[in-house]
Amino acid sequence: MDITFEHVTHVYGSRTPFEKLALDDVSLHIPSGSFTSIIGHTGSGKSTLVQHINGLLKPSKGTITVGDVVIQAGAKKQDLKSLREKVGFVFQYPEHQLFEETIIKDVCFGPMNFGISESEAIKRAEESLQMVGLPASLWHRSPFDLSGGQMRRVAIAGVLALRPQAVILDEPTAGLDPKGRQEILGLFKSLHERQQLTIIMVTHSMDDAAALSDQVVAMKGGKPLIIGTPKDVFIQKEKLQAAGLDLPETMTFLNKLLERAGESKTIPAFTIDDA
Ligand code: ADP
Repeated sequence: MDITFEHVTHVYGSRTPFEKLALDDVSLHIPSGSFTSIIGHTGSGKSTLVQHINGLLKPSKGTITVGDVVIQAGAKKQDLKSLREKVGFVFQYPEHQLFEETIIKDVCFGPMNFGISESEAIKRAEESLQMVGLPASLWHRSPFDLSGGQMRRVAIAGVLALRPQAVILDEPTAGLDPKGRQEILGLFKSLHERQQLTIIMVTHSMDDAAALSDQVVAMKGGKPLIIGTPKDVFIQKEKLQAAGLDLPETMTFLNKLLERAGESKTIPAFTIDDA
């Protein structure tokens, strides 16, 4: 399911004193099955951009196409229900939205809300909980008995239970310890590789973008500044720095970059200027 933005502009508070141009004539393509990371300074428009993909925000101008759904500025009737089934959204700190008595009920909530029968919802919930690696012995416990990382996995299972074709992740590792971070990133890496799930990840971590994505979109002032493979994007160090993005100059970062570019697994001595 390809995702395309054509000349998309988004203005908050249009015709008010608080009017703010948050997306400025954005055109970009997210190929089906890709892992795209959106990077950029705070306020560069990352969150506004991704909220257009599942219809949470509507464009002020332009067109967004998500598979066979077309979202156009000014259009009255849009097929947002089918869009929300196709595109899952994992918000920042998604565990804050858990509320049911048991984990399994929480994961069933989304599918049942979309009119799926209880037995099918349970089947999907079990499948999703298995996917996120939460042991069956915990499924009938309260989600509030879990660790932070486990609670996040339950919330993600709730999104996966709708069987989306694409998933948007807004800072998916925020607030987790290094082990929790690795678990969550590993989960999305495997969902992307094994199930060809299209992933769009908003992140502050250049390391994560370098390690996981096949496409990086660097945003500045509501526009994509650079779009390309991690190597194509991160090689443009000065341009990124001018947009307030400082690259980590660690060997792990550079090795991840080269690994993604299929060039090498480990390079003992290397600077980004040689890439
Ligand atoms: P990012 O996710 O990169 O931090 P955002 O998409 O949240 O950027 O914000 C882009 C711009 O739009 C910023 O200037 C921000 O202040 C503004 N903005 C975001 N949300 C709103 C809103 N609900 N109302 C008014 N302005 C907003």
